[in-house]
Amino acid sequence: MSDDTDHIAERKMQFLFALRSRGVTDKAVLTAMEKIDRGPFIRGYFSERAYEDMPLPIACGQTISQPSVVGLMTQALKVSNRDKVLEVGTGSGYQAAILSQLARRVYTVDRHKRLVTEASEIFRDLDLTNITAITADGSFGLPDQAPFDRIIVTAAAEDPPGPLLAQLKIGGIMIVPVGQSDTVQRLIRVTRTEIGFDYDELRPVRFVPLVEGLGRDG
Ligand code: SAH
Repeated sequence: MSDDTDHIAERKMQFLFALRSRGVTDKAVLTAMEKIDRGPFIRGYFSERAYEDMPLPIACGQTISQPSVVGLMTQALKVSNRDKVLEVGTGSGYQAAILSQLARRVYTVDRHKRLVTEASEIFRDLDLTNITAITADGSFGLPDQAPFDRIIVTAAAEDPPGPLLAQLKIGGIMIVPVGQSDTVQRLIRVTRTEIGFDYDELRPVRFVPLVEGLGRDG
C-alpha cells in the first residue's frame, strides 16, 4: 500500500472507532457508514476534516451534522429495508445517503434549492438510485408521498410539526430535535401507536433551526 492509501485507511478506522465509542453499535448502521464516504459531501476548505467527528460548515450557511450524531439518530430510527423514509433537511445529503443503504426508498427535502441540486449530483455519482431530493418547506412534510414508515428531521423545531406527525404511519417512528435554536435542544423519538403518540427523550443535541418557507435561492 502507498503512504496515501495507508493514511486514508487509518483515518477511516479512526472514524469508525469514534462512532463506536460514542455509542453507534448497530451493525447495519456501522456498515452503511463505512461504505458511504463522508468526503464528497463536504466541499472546499473543510473537506480535509471529513473524517473527524465534528459538524462542519456547508453551503447556504448550514452544517453537515457530526457523524456520531448521524449514527445515533439513524440507529434510533430503526430502519428496515421495507421502509419508506422522509428526511427533512437534506443539507449536504450525507444523512440521506446513509439512510439509502438501510431503507427501501428515501425522500429528502430542503428549503435551499442549491443544497438539493448539489446533493442530487452526489447521489447520481454514487448511484444511490433510491433517493429523491426535493426543494420544499419540509415542515409540511411531503403529502404526495405520505404516509411514511420513518421520518427524520435534521433541523430543530420548537415542537414536532403537526403535518409530520400526521404523515407518520401507525407503528412509524420519527426522530426530531426539539427546542429553541440557540440553546441545547433535546432529541425526541416519537412513535405512532393505534391511539396516539409515544414520546421518548434521547439526548441533548444542537441543530440549525427549522425555518419556514423556501430559501432565497429557491
Ligand atoms: N442532514 C443534513 C444536515 C442538515 S442541516 C446532512 O446530512 O448534511 C439542516 C438543514 O435543514 C439545512 O440544510 C436547512 O436548509 C434545512 N431546513 C431548515 N428548515 C427547513 C424546512 N422548513 N424545510 C426543509 N429544510 C429545512
